Amino acid sequence: MTVHFPFEHTYAALPANFFARVAPTPVAAPRLIKLNRPLAEQLGLDPDLLSTPEGAEILAGKRVPEGADPIAMAYAGHQFGHFVPQLGDGRAILLGEVIDRDGVRRDIQLKGSGPTPFSRRGDGRAALGPVLREYVVSEAMFKLGIPTTRSLAAVMSGESVMRETVLPGAVLTRVAASHIRVGTFQFFAARGDTDGVRQLADHVIARHYPDLAQADRPYHALLDAVIARQANLVAQWLLVGFIHGVMNTDNTSISGETIDYGPCAFMDEYNPATVFSSIDEMGRYAYGNQPRIALWNLTRLAECLLPLFSDDKDKAIEQAQFALGAFAEKFTEAYQAGLRRKAGLFTARDGDEALVQDLLDAMTKNQADFTLTFRRLGDIAADPANSEPVRELFVDPTAFDPWAERWRQRIAEEPQSASERQLAMHRVNPAFIPRNHRIEAVIQAAVSNDDFAPFEELLTVLSNPYEDQPAFAAYAEPPEPHQRVHQTFCGT
Ligand code: AMP
Ligand code: MG
Repeated sequence: MTVHFPFEHTYAALPANFFARVAPTPVAAPRLIKLNRPLAEQLGLDPDLLSTPEGAEILAGKRVPEGADPIAMAYAGHQFGHFVPQLGDGRAILLGEVIDRDGVRRDIQLKGSGPTPFSRRGDGRAALGPVLREYVVSEAMFKLGIPTTRSLAAVMSGESVMRETVLPGAVLTRVAASHIRVGTFQFFAARGDTDGVRQLADHVIARHYPDLAQADRPYHALLDAVIARQANLVAQWLLVGFIHGVMNTDNTSISGETIDYGPCAFMDEYNPATVFSSIDEMGRYAYGNQPRIALWNLTRLAECLLPLFSDDKDKAIEQAQFALGAFAEKFTEAYQAGLRRKAGLFTARDGDEALVQDLLDAMTKNQADFTLTFRRLGDIAADPANSEPVRELFVDPTAFDPWAERWRQRIAEEPQSASERQLAMHRVNPAFIPRNHRIEAVIQAAVSNDDFAPFEELLTVLSNPYEDQPAFAAYAEPPEPHQRVHQTFCGT
């Protein structure tokens, strides 16, 4: 029996300049490291067949499965604010689309499967470390309930890749609602190809926003909808302490999923200025800058859509500005509602925003761990007499006391029981996030010792982020000073 992929190809049916047809480059000795069996089933694929040597060859790009129509997608993008008119999939190849169990169309893409016409000077390959990082973090985001691309498989290629050192090569199979980016629109807009922009917009509406086809002004409605999804996405990032690290327009998905996990990281100590990415020297993509950058990226999308809005350029700009004006409100609404839930507030009252902000400010001053502070706040909601588990997270524990007093008075105004509040808080405040030092340890063990047990264990822990899991309590802990990771790398 061979693996059957029920592929469809709506993107590859678009005009020829949307992509380049290119097959993956075969690799020496594929070895399956990890198959995401539940995801395979969700996609209607047979996990047992995917686990065979033939399955591993497909997932490594050594064998093109029947029905695939491999392409590299064209796109442009602003990288750190500078426009590059042609980027494109330089090391990724889309095999095709499948309809999942919920009726959702999903791209199946190999990342690290060899050069394409968009590779520029790159080798089209990926190293094992970044593949494991993307696998762990994307699946963790999914389990946290945040829109994201997912990881179907990781395979080692049996070949080496040259980076700063020689590293084992690997291929990630990525699954996405689509791989269309803000930068995909920019590719056509930069060429003055309004027909291309329109065809892409029509494809996106049919695929991601089908209800908008009936709207009075579908292209305006499309911009509104992407703005709404991005505002919500970035709010959710902030609420779990996620830092994307490379929020370039080519890494901003039109479907509203988190995409392109490079030097991403979760914050340990709360500080809005936190930056991990080694390539983000100016802190452009710092934790607290992410909402502003999302709006900047959406403004680039709006510019691409102007010719579809109106022949009158001034009118089109005015309409785009009006649409972009909704971002701040949408983001703030999602973010503040999320913060209230994190703080265990069931209703919204005057003063709540300031109350939560004061906690965040005290956390910043006292280097309190973001994840643990909110998780333990849930516990002390059930046992108000004992605030020690939270106090001890603050450099100066007394800094927490006056805030705790205000908070107790505030929650006492609500009828919910202590245990009800604890339960509600634990549902939104994870105990487990993919902490940097754990990811580094996973990569280290895999790359240096061919040991994937830490990778498997971390995935197990992160598959239930909102459960206490006492057996894995150590995974909830922040790094010891010597374990602390100061920089993350994209590893391209
Ligand atoms: P990324 O930083 O992964 O979002 O990639 C930015 C751009 O560089 C995209 O066009 C990628 O396809 C391209 N790229 C990154 N790494 C490689 C590589 N090893 N070989 C070829 N192209 C690459
Ligand atoms: Mg990218």
